[in-house]
Amino acid sequence: MCGIAAFFKRDNAAFSVVESLFAEQHRGQDSAGLVSTDGTRLYSHFGLGLVKDTFKEEILQNLKGERAIGHVRYPTQGRVSLSNCQPHIFSFNGEDIFAVASNGDLTNLPELSEEILQEGLKLEGENDAEVIAKFLGLYTTKKKFSIVDAIYLFMEKAMGAYSAVLLTKNELFAFRDPWAFRPMCYGMKENFVSIASESVALDILRIPYYGEIEAGTIYRWNDSGLKIFERKTVKPIKHCIFEHIYFSRPDSIVFNEKVFEVRKKIGCFLAEKDKVVADCVIAVPDSSNYIGLGYAEKRGIPFVLGLVRNHYVGRTFIAPDQITRDEGVRFKFNPLPSFFVGKKIILVDDSIVRGTTIKKLIRMLKENGATEIHLRIGSPPIRHSCFYGVDTPNKEKLIASKMEVEEIRQFIGADTLNYLSIEDLRKCVSTPEDYCYACFNGDYPAGEKKHPSLVS
Ligand code: AMP
Repeated sequence: MCGIAAFFKRDNAAFSVVESLFAEQHRGQDSAGLVSTDGTRLYSHFGLGLVKDTFKEEILQNLKGERAIGHVRYPTQGRVSLSNCQPHIFSFNGEDIFAVASNGDLTNLPELSEEILQEGLKLEGENDAEVIAKFLGLYTTKKKFSIVDAIYLFMEKAMGAYSAVLLTKNELFAFRDPWAFRPMCYGMKENFVSIASESVALDILRIPYYGEIEAGTIYRWNDSGLKIFERKTVKPIKHCIFEHIYFSRPDSIVFNEKVFEVRKKIGCFLAEKDKVVADCVIAVPDSSNYIGLGYAEKRGIPFVLGLVRNHYVGRTFIAPDQITRDEGVRFKFNPLPSFFVGKKIILVDDSIVRGTTIKKLIRMLKENGATEIHLRIGSPPIRHSCFYGVDTPNKEKLIASKMEVEEIRQFIGADTLNYLSIEDLRKCVSTPEDYCYACFNGDYPAGEKKHPSLVS
């Protein structure tokens, strides 16, 4: 999973891209990168870590021009290294020609890589953007395709997810796979355009949201304005439902739906047939807050803030020894027992992946005085890996691929456990056919990834 941002015709575009990336930091914390242009050359900067640590003012001053693209990375493919940072720059005969940033995973990366290698190009890293950039570079330089035709060919050949932007010295392109797995939208204000993975990146800069970059479609901005090239490779639309459940920010519009509203509906459906008696609802912060709120409102049970989250614990937090590793959950969540001592809790979480976090949380809440814990999960059991860019591990590590719901309940120590059904999840979005549910039902619309992924 990653985040993308781009600006075209905006003074000091690099500064605006960084502000957008900052709003999308939740989509990737392992590296950040930016490429800008003033029409004479490409300027770039990359760093491992957070946006605020990578882009200091003095660095941004050197990223000149009124066009720029940027990326935050959450690796699912390829190591955390500078060579895997995006945007990836394609150079030819010693000159930087264009840069590409992409969100999503390709399932036929080995086949695409093979074609590039056979033509004599080298691959330095192991990430999708490099393969996209080199594929397009190969066809535009050696085979003399236009960029648009090279992208069309790529769309024909590539399987999987890519929401991508491409910057040349004069033009900005945005294109998205024909299934439109991962989000990407754009906004316009005065004379400039802004592209982002999530609308929140436009919102914070007060740029009016214009709409999605449509599936399989190529958008090109240059001095003559915007030109849209219609999609040629047509596939059924399959947005990632997990963007609504967990990944996107609740204040974003994703796939034309307000994310917080989808989450509240999930909570309502979880509550609808639930008869369990309880004193309060506690959501695992922050991802489950709106699901918990929806549940509590529907059942008229008080929503209490019985868990406090430390926002500075990153995903990659490494505990120094075994004891702290086992207790690691305490670094991220601390209970406020005053809200629940002697009480029956409805605990709401968005999903269970390996089951380790929730098991520790339940033990912690019980040790702190909860009498009963009724766990409600805002998604169906995750039984299959995602091959399209969500960081879910190999199937063997997914608890629901090995255990039935009752076994999971016993393993994690909940008094009762209910998951949302796929049927109810479908009712939470306005166009349920247009979503991918592969992590729940194993029905993969764009093939399975055979090559090793980073997440194990
Ligand atoms: P676990 O079951 O311990 O592996 O972790 C499950 C928790 O991780 C859920 O409650 C989610 O909030 C969160 N989560 C779900 N999917 C992801 C993901 N792809 N990357 C990081 N965290 C996730």
